[in-house]
Amino acid sequence: MSIVIKNGRVIDPASQTDRTADVLIVDGLIAGVAPNLSSSHAEVFDATGMIVAPGFIDMHVHLREPGFEHAENIESGSRAAAAGGFTSVCCMPNTKPVNDSVTVTSYIVERARRSAIVNVFPIGAITKGSAGEELSAIGGMKDAGAVAISDDGLPVMNARVMRRAMEFAKSYDLPVIQHCEDLNLSAGGDMHEGAAAVRWGLRGIPSAAEDVMVARDLVLAQLTGARYHVAHISTRNAVAMVDYARRHGLPVTCEVTPHHFALADADILAYDSNYKMKPPLRSCGDREAVTEGLVAGTIHAIATDHAPHAGSEKMQEFERCPFGIIGLETAIALALEHLVHTGKLSLAHMVELFTTGPESVMRLGRGTLATGAPGDVTVFSTDVSWTYDVNQSPSRSRNSPFDGHTFRGGPVATVVGGKLVWRRDGA
Ligand SMILES: [Zn+2]
Repeated sequence: MSIVIKNGRVIDPASQTDRTADVLIVDGLIAGVAPNLSSSHAEVFDATGMIVAPGFIDMHVHLREPGFEHAENIESGSRAAAAGGFTSVCCMPNTKPVNDSVTVTSYIVERARRSAIVNVFPIGAITKGSAGEELSAIGGMKDAGAVAISDDGLPVMNARVMRRAMEFAKSYDLPVIQHCEDLNLSAGGDMHEGAAAVRWGLRGIPSAAEDVMVARDLVLAQLTGARYHVAHISTRNAVAMVDYARRHGLPVTCEVTPHHFALADADILAYDSNYKMKPPLRSCGDREAVTEGLVAGTIHAIATDHAPHAGSEKMQEFERCPFGIIGLETAIALALEHLVHTGKLSLAHMVELFTTGPESVMRLGRGTLATGAPGDVTVFSTDVSWTYDVNQSPSRSRNSPFDGHTFRGGPVATVVGGKLVWRRDGA
């Protein structure tokens, strides 16, 4: 079984490649990147005029299985990932039951093997039930396939528990991913604390709720030496603190979501719950700061925080509906629109943020087109015009603020292990 992706502009940051070439995949592995490659019986994909990159990695998604399959399952989430150009996703443990054990980790791995069309890597919970008190079975989950630990959806509020978690994670060489939110400061809030919240009469979540948690954790990261990663960074101070820690040599990384560099609280349409997420859309100044963090290299990855919620849940009043939006299918297009077409980032830098960046945190053995690497390839266009219709989404949920938006550029084809698992209609 082989496929050759012909005549695309191959951008592989891992090998600093940027040239027109063919990519040949044989038996699921990259067999070569060079002009005029061919192989008898190989399927041919013509990528003329397109960008051909290592398979994109989304290190932060919620697939909702087990327990919330009405909103998403591993199969539907993986199809949304493929339609977004992602070949690998890392799924957060806030399922029901929480992925805090070998049993649940193994269940997810097995379900993914049977039903997912992209690679799925589970993230284990830091604490049992993500209740923030007792550490979960970290070593066992790692053996079963967990690639990181996080209580995402919730922070680890207790500093002593977080210290112990970091010590264990260090001994197992796993990254600790924190959802940075001081629950006492954020309690009762629905959107960013600022002028827009006042205008809508909604309660605010201050930037300080994120900042104090990042500050505390950086102190603990220094104490323990653990690899520490800030999920969905959203404030100017948090970016500055991560930059400070990195300058002092700490193994600290962070990610930003597309919606946090694309939108600010001032963009929120009247009480539309598709603009409600955690962290909330911040001020224009914060949005500028995360964009500057991307440009400067302080932020290592773009991760979607794809958070499906069933229609009935999101159709409630703003104050009552759950936090989170889906994001897999619009991530590449938003990065092109806000970062590349604006001239802020080069295409190669954007590709890094979806490949070598998340790979450096999660160490999946992917994110490269090196010979012998897994045959995962993302093909995208910088100028295809398309309109996002959320009702056509393979996701089981519809909660996106970008429904109806027309983009310039987006994913065109997704190849996982040498198999074409998705292609844009007409491509
Ligand atoms: Zn989170």
